[in-house]
Amino acid sequence: MRTHSHVEEIADSSRVSTGALPSAELVRAAMKQAYERYRSIQEGELATYIPALAAANAGSFGLCIVSVDGAVSAIGDSSCRFTIQSVAKPFVLALVCQACGCEETREKVGVNGTGMGFDSILAIELNPQRTMNPMVNAGAIATTSLAPGESAADKWRFIHDGLSRFAGRTLELNEDVYRSETTANQRNLGIAYLLESYQRVYFDAAQATDVYTKQCSLDVTVEDLAVMGATLGDGGVNPLTGEQVVDPAICKRVLAVLATAGMYERSGDWLCDIGLPGKSGVSGGIVTIAPGKGGMGAFSPLLDEAGNSIRAQLATRFLSEQLGLNLFASKAAQGSAHVRAS
Ligand code: GLN
Repeated sequence: MRTHSHVEEIADSSRVSTGALPSAELVRAAMKQAYERYRSIQEGELATYIPALAAANAGSFGLCIVSVDGAVSAIGDSSCRFTIQSVAKPFVLALVCQACGCEETREKVGVNGTGMGFDSILAIELNPQRTMNPMVNAGAIATTSLAPGESAADKWRFIHDGLSRFAGRTLELNEDVYRSETTANQRNLGIAYLLESYQRVYFDAAQATDVYTKQCSLDVTVEDLAVMGATLGDGGVNPLTGEQVVDPAICKRVLAVLATAGMYERSGDWLCDIGLPGKSGVSGGIVTIAPGKGGMGAFSPLLDEAGNSIRAQLATRFLSEQLGLNLFASKAAQGSAHVRAS
């Protein structure tokens, strides 16, 4: 049963229940431990299907946490630049939801996990909705195609400007990676044309794919990812610039979609281990959001078979545990044992 037609009546974003990050000292100590614990892990493979990504330094490893009150803690290769890749997807979804409305976007791109790889064509063929959710390539290209603007240049300006506002600085396009992915983009183009045949892409398929490829090719650092994540975890306000980038209700929606599908077919494993919404990209970045507390950026280029950074996942898992971030954790309320006993 789909209940979302009733959601508007009961939504009340003014009621929130979150908590706070532990002290900055504790955060920094836990980050140091995470870094030392996993820095020597060398498992995984570099992404090679985009030729420029095969040149990454496999040893790079950086972590950053930004709290909703703007405290920045970083360790390792925290100023190393890498392309944002799929980590852009939740932020583009937020910008498009803000411009087009959450419900219209939900109708057009979906919110349910495919249970398949990020570039799956079978997922399009097997599901009558075609685009299942905006965290895999099909739904992401459809989401990008919904960006406001008459031309591809307008749509790119909207996305580039919005992602930069999430980061609190103007993000730069990595021309080498953009060119490299453009020459190797046959599969994404195939996905876009297939969606076009089902009327599930909302602009010229090739141009929408090109804008999508550009959004993936923006250079970021782990600090950028942490600031962007903290913005989604702070009701849409960038904790460093103070700018309201999107509305709180949009953040709530985007984080729910991330929890469903941020790690593709490994999203259930991720939620069991980490208990927070997160998103990975094939260059090795992962953003994780602790609603009401802050955002975490992690980067290391060696990936598992699903395309998720191995060291970034391990460090995020450790930090989620050490800092008490898992959204599903609870303790018995004081006195409840007594109530049960009486
Ligand atoms: N640009 C990449 C692609 O479309 C992004 C995929 C990813 O990061 N998982 O194939």
